[in-house]
Amino acid sequence: MLVKLPEKTYYGGMRFTSFVGLGGAVVLVAAAALTQQFPLRQKTEKLATGPMRVDKVKDGLFVIRGPFVPCGTRGCRPGGADDKLIHEPGDVALRVTSEGAILIDDKYPENVADVLALVKTVTQQPVKFLLNTHHHGDHASGNANIRAMGINIVGHKNIRANFLRIKQPGEPNITFADEGAVYLGGVEVQLMYLGRGHTNGDTVIYFPDLKTVHTGDLIIDAMPVIDYSAGGSAIEFIKTIDNLLKVDFDTMIPGHGRVMNKDDVRAYRNRFAEMNRRARELAHKKVPLNQFQAALKLDDLGWADSVSTSAWVTSLQQYYDEMGR
Ligand SMILES: [Zn+2]
Repeated sequence: MLVKLPEKTYYGGMRFTSFVGLGGAVVLVAAAALTQQFPLRQKTEKLATGPMRVDKVKDGLFVIRGPFVPCGTRGCRPGGADDKLIHEPGDVALRVTSEGAILIDDKYPENVADVLALVKTVTQQPVKFLLNTHHHGDHASGNANIRAMGINIVGHKNIRANFLRIKQPGEPNITFADEGAVYLGGVEVQLMYLGRGHTNGDTVIYFPDLKTVHTGDLIIDAMPVIDYSAGGSAIEFIKTIDNLLKVDFDTMIPGHGRVMNKDDVRAYRNRFAEMNRRARELAHKKVPLNQFQAALKLDDLGWADSVSTSAWVTSLQQYYDEMGR
């Protein structure tokens, strides 16, 4: 016999129902994790100025973060946005095997020497492959330096196309369409194309033996940014995160920021869906663009002054248009 519990309501208008057996054991739930309440507000890490560093994630897996600099990811320079925040270029992952190392992303060209120096502090193995999460300069414009060392670069076919479109040197020389994999030293690293979102080439790098993903900018410790010029979409973004949640992982390296877990991804998805719900309502009510951002109430999502908010604002018109369709 099943006892129906009162319906729980979560923000975003989603409702989940749990059924609990008389013995108290959960015998049927939509998904246990879905019944958990996630915080609406993202509590982002407060960054301080500092050099690049390498942190261990799990045995054989490291993340290289920083450098942490004011203004934009390339520091205070003419034309750079000064939002008074500390930024860092994209998180680099390093997978070490007995036959060589695999790098995921490489930051800016001027960061590559420091990335490779940090690699040497944790392994004497040479880097054999570079995998890209997407084409953006703060993640992958170091590619040309890596390619010049004779290292193969694997990326989704849309990543290669985006490199060629914006004439950024260092395009991947090995491509795939839906899924790819690199095998080295008994380790498998998968490349998964789960749909559009931040760009049209977002690739999730999956380390199945470690139940860990590197999501690129699909998930960041800040508000999501949509690059419409590279085929990004806020509507498709949610579907892509839903596909990501079907992957068996417990640990997530984001495009920017600290290592997080699967519940952080669920929470991110829900607050992003809530922003889209508000945006759709506002756009359909034809709230003028100059009132749109304030009316989204980004502060209760933790996104009013995140490190990516100034980048997000540059696509406000396109976001408004997409949500109004
Ligand atoms: Zn990006």
